[in-house]
Amino acid sequence: MQSQNIFYIDEVILRKIETEFDLIEKKSWYSLYQNKDDKSFWRFDEWDKYQVQIFVKLESIENWSEYNDKDLRINLLKEHRGLSQEKCKWQNCHKKALNNLVFCELHAYTEMGIRK
Ligand SMILES: [Zn+2]
Repeated sequence: MQSQNIFYIDEVILRKIETEFDLIEKKSWYSLYQNKDDKSFWRFDEWDKYQVQIFVKLESIENWSEYNDKDLRINLLKEHRGLSQEKCKWQNCHKKALNNLVFCELHAYTEMGIRK
């Protein structure tokens, strides 16, 4: 999976999970997977609570279903959309807006509910 630690779930990722991961446990809308090679643990959104499902690498298996991946999701949104040259229109925000949006990744995510 290289160094990327969060992915939008698509056909490619589903195929990778099927061949490179073992299902360990299911709990409250999430599934815990372990990578067969490096033994790392990953969490899969079973239910699209966030509208867009993701597959995220966990730092620890402890309380794995409660791991807060919000910052990673926000960063993934930025990587996915890319930044424009415009400034975010949110008051007092100095970040750059995402491509084809008037807000930065933080405000797009937290204020607009944009997930991908
Ligand atoms: Zn902003």
